[in-house]
Amino acid sequence: MTSRRVGSLVPRETVSTGRSGSVGEGYRGHDSVIPPLDPFDRSTPIGAAAAAAVEALATERRQPFPRPARRRIISVANQKGGVGKTTTTVNLAAALASHGIRVLVIDLDPQGNASTALGVDHHSGVPSIYEVLLGDRPLDEVIVASTEAPELFCAPATIDLAGAEIELVSLVARENRLHRAIQGMKREVDYVLIDCPPSLGLLTVNALVAARELLIPIQCEYYALEGLGMLLRNVELVQAHLNQDLRLTTILLTMYDSRTRLADQVVHEVKEHFGDRVLGTTIPRNVRLAEAPSYGQSALTYDPTSRGSLSYLAAARELAERGFEPNGAGR
Ligand code: ATP
Ligand code: MG
Repeated sequence: MTSRRVGSLVPRETVSTGRSGSVGEGYRGHDSVIPPLDPFDRSTPIGAAAAAAVEALATERRQPFPRPARRRIISVANQKGGVGKTTTTVNLAAALASHGIRVLVIDLDPQGNASTALGVDHHSGVPSIYEVLLGDRPLDEVIVASTEAPELFCAPATIDLAGAEIELVSLVARENRLHRAIQGMKREVDYVLIDCPPSLGLLTVNALVAARELLIPIQCEYYALEGLGMLLRNVELVQAHLNQDLRLTTILLTMYDSRTRLADQVVHEVKEHFGDRVLGTTIPRNVRLAEAPSYGQSALTYDPTSRGSLSYLAAARELAERGFEPNGAGR
């Protein structure tokens, strides 16, 4: 794997050596122990911010995430492109897994971005979600371990999936294929997170039929709500005809830029419209989130104390602590 590039905000001994010692533990050299040092110069704003970030991470690590009583299946969808679906799926998954929660990410986008970000091979020909949907291959056979955490798995997407929208049309029960595959899965996981493509085609419909929860990432920008009506109408159609258990449970605001008044307006509007379904945590625009995938890593691994990483940890905690109680018997 490529070497890790880390920001200057990260204390040297926690990352550059790859050792797990906590901050201030001291550095054990060949034959001497250098006494512990506070790695930050707290008298400077950047040193104080770095210290605060590391302390926030240490505090976060001490509080376990609740494990759901039953498996949660969450589709991450928005037909608008580039709003943060994949970044959200991957980093929420990594955040949950960093607390020992068992997570499967299903990459349902032919671009395979979630597979890339989880360090999973997805060149044409590797066993992938395409064979599960089109070839009735058991989901267990395509699931691979990610490089992120022992409890984080991925069903990769290859470019073959690009033809699936059309190939699915002629198949029996074409909207139910992913649902059936997940129901038949033997691997036990606490969460299944499905990363949808930026469209409302059959792949996204499969995700909506398979899930009991829908998470919509909304980018804090002017056109944020445009097109959402169409997604919500599709959700109603799926609820009416294919999956009455589906609920829009979670909205996550992404790419928030505190320097613009526009971002605040969008946050306000979205909260007014969706109420308490909007997570209290808003994901800031943060370059580490954009850089991490090129190293085949989540932001949590790439730069654990970055603002992006800490915000996804906070969002994942909210998601886990809110839980989900389905109406009726559920599936
Ligand atoms: P697509 O519709 O193409 O699947 P998407 O909705 O999955 O896109 P992402 O791929 O997660 O969106 O994000 C789009 C781009 O924005 C990526 O380059 C990603 O690295 C970057 N990005 C996502 N979230 C943030 C953020 N909070 N701060 C900075 N960059 C971000
Ligand atoms: Mg994506």
